[in-house]
Order: sequence, then structure tokens, then C-alpha cells
Amino acid sequence: MKRLSVLGSTGSIGLQTMEVVRSNRELFRLEAITANSSLDLLEQQVKEFRPKLVVVFDESKYAELKRRVGGITEVAAGVEGLIAAATISEADTVVSSIVGIAGLIPTYHAVMNKKNIALANKETLVAGGRLIMSKAKENHISILPVDSEHSAIFQSIGSNKKSELSKLILTASGGPFRTRTLEELQHVTLSDALNHPNWKMGKKITVDSATLMNKGLEVIEARWLFDVNAEDIDVCVHPQSIIHSMVEFVDGSVIAQLGLPDMKLPIQYALTYPERMPIAGEKLDLRKIGTLTFEKPDTAKFPCLKLAYDALHLGDSACISVNGANEAAVELFLNEKIGFMDIPRLITAVLEKHETLNNPTLEEIIEIDQWARKLTLELYEKRCNIC
Ligand code: NDP
Ligand code: MG
Repeated sequence: MKRLSVLGSTGSIGLQTMEVVRSNRELFRLEAITANSSLDLLEQQVKEFRPKLVVVFDESKYAELKRRVGGITEVAAGVEGLIAAATISEADTVVSSIVGIAGLIPTYHAVMNKKNIALANKETLVAGGRLIMSKAKENHISILPVDSEHSAIFQSIGSNKKSELSKLILTASGGPFRTRTLEELQHVTLSDALNHPNWKMGKKITVDSATLMNKGLEVIEARWLFDVNAEDIDVCVHPQSIIHSMVEFVDGSVIAQLGLPDMKLPIQYALTYPERMPIAGEKLDLRKIGTLTFEKPDTAKFPCLKLAYDALHLGDSACISVNGANEAAVELFLNEKIGFMDIPRLITAVLEKHETLNNPTLEEIIEIDQWARKLTLELYEKRCNIC
């Protein structure tokens, strides 16, 4: 039986993880769950799964959570609470599914406490890839991908040797604005951006999918997860989201993983690996799909993808800065303070001002992230009337 701590149990990935646990009660036991502030969902999950610890990050909600479930389970709050959930002795595996850089500190502590990681929180590797992967190696733990593209690559590599790989090919749906012109992109709205054609996800990653920053973050994530150079990672737009990604080998053979777009598969595979377990529901029938199409990504319309490659070439601090600036810019866009194309504009301006630092410590990563966010907000305030 696997004993799980699910960080971000109330989010899109968290709720689908709960479905996987519910369908495989004999395989999994929930030891800890966490949220930012969603008390109703946490309360339901405590009552259903009876974890040992429940954590709300927002400390102002602690007393209310304690009142609701304190008789059933231990309750904690704040970053200390998240770390307690990530390191709880009863759990052997941590599902890292908080959104954004907030996932970095608890994931780092989980690794240092020798927990295996099922990783959805890509921002952890974008900002802290070098540090986290080296600590994972030192602590002899595995980081298995939940992100569907990385799960596809992991499955496609299978038992082949690293020396046999020649290229990773990440597929991208292209998001809701794939067929819009550059001119049209200046005027798209928040609700247009939140209307993803193939996947139902949290708001931040949905906006990232619309700008293609999600793919950029995934390129950086793949660089660390599979230890390959940026030049050996390609992106291919595939609007049907049936091929979840591919690997090209040295002999030219390409192996891909296909399936209907459903995150339960990569979540479950990360938790049952090396076994596969059944999942109820519709299966892929390519005869019903009919046509699979492929395009080159358009980086003039979607500069965020290029910004991520640029950051990888510039160094670790550039990846942290792009990630931090993106989080701050997306937050502004979600609050309807800036337009869609202001997101890449702000990130570009932050990247131009950043100074390269490689191999940062955890504290340095957090410092650079905060610098990038602060600068994004300052730039927004200065340029507000043109945004
Ligand atoms: P959601 O926004 O749906 O959920 C985020 C979760 O994190 C919630 O439980 C939320 O709690 C919690 N949370 C948010 N902010 C904080 C914070 N500051 N401190 C502690 N907890 C916090 O996100 P998703 O589930 O969509 O995404 C989670 C991660 O998985 C992201 O990194 C995303 O890129 C990645 N991912 C997601 C996919 C998807 O299909 N959704 C696919 C592939 C990767 P609360 O409910 O209280 O707000
Ligand atoms: Mg993905």
C-alpha cells in the first residue's frame, strides 16, 4: 500500500488524485492533505479519507478549519504546515500539486525527507530544477512526472538507454488562440483565455496554455527531469491532444504515448509505476478521432515559448525570473489589470534586467523569484496607461 501526502488536494490535479485514490482504496491511503484556503473541500476530504494531518496555508482560516475537523484529525497552517504535510513520517509518496512557486519549499523538504515525488507542480523544476534533481539523486528518491507530456516521454523512453535518445518532442494543443492572428491577440479577453479546447485545469495553467508559456515551462521541466539539453527538446503543436508527447531515438525511430486527454492516467501511472492499473471510462478509438494534425509553434504570436528557451540558454536565474515574472503577470491578467499580450511584454522586460546566477541555493531561488515578481509589478505600475 502507498501512503500519500497530497499537497494541493483541492485543486484540479488534487481532486483527480482523490478520484484515483477512491477507485483504488486497496492501493492507497491518504496521510496528509493541504489547500490554500478551500475549507469546504478540505472538510469533505477529511471526512471521506480521514488523513492524519490537514493543512490550510492561509493562517486566517486555521481556527475555522480546526473548529470543523479538529475532532477528527490534526490541523496545521502556513508554510510550516505545508512542510509538516510534505515530511509527515507516515507517507512514503508526496503528490506535489500546489500551483506555482509556492510548491517549491514543501517539495524540497519532501525530497530531503526521502519521499518519492509524483510531480505536477512544474514551477518547482522550472525554478529549482538543478537543486531538486541533485537532492533527489543524493536522497535516492524518484521524481515521477504527472504532467501529461512528461509522463508520455517517461512511458515512451521505457527501458531504452539515455544514450539512445536523440530528441524529446513535446506536443502542445496550441490553446484557445491557436488560429487567432497577432492583431486579434491584442484584444482577447480573460474569459476567452480561460476557455481551453481540450483540458479542464486550474486558472493559472489555463492562461499559461493560452500564451504557450505552459509549453515553455514544460521545456524547462523536461530539461531537468530527463537531463537533456534545450537543443534536444522540440515542440510540436497537435491540436487534438491525443499524442501526449514523443521520443526520437538515435536510429530515427519515434515512440509516442497516445490516449484521450484525461489527467487521471498520468496521475495514476505516477502512483502505481511500474505497474499499470485499469481506469474506468472511454478508451481511445483512433477511428473515431479520424485525423491527427501537426504544426510548428508560432513564436511571433506566442513569444512566451521562445522566452523559456532563451531563459534556459541564459542560465538558472533566468528560468527563475521568467517563472516569477510569468506568475505575477498572469495574476495581473486574471485580475483584468493587463491585456493578454502584456504578459510576454512584462516577462521580456524582466528577463532583460536579470543578472545570471547559476546553481542557486533554495534561499537564492526564492530571492530571485521575489525580485522578478516585484519588478513585474513595478513595470506594470509605470506602464499602466499603455497596458
Ligand atoms: P489549481 O489552481 O486547480 O489548484 C492549486 C492547488 O494548490 C489548490 O489545492 C490550491 O488550494 C493550492 N494552492 C494555491 N496556492 C497555494 C499557496 N500559495 N500555498 C499552498 N497551496 C496553494 O491548479 P492545478 O491543479 O491546475 O495545477 C496544479 C499544478 O499542476 C500546477 O503547477 C500546474 O502547472 C500543474 N499541472 C496541472 C494540470 C491540470 O490538468 N490541472 C496538468 C499538468 C500540470 P485552494 O483550493 O485553497 O486554492
Ligand atoms: Mg502538460
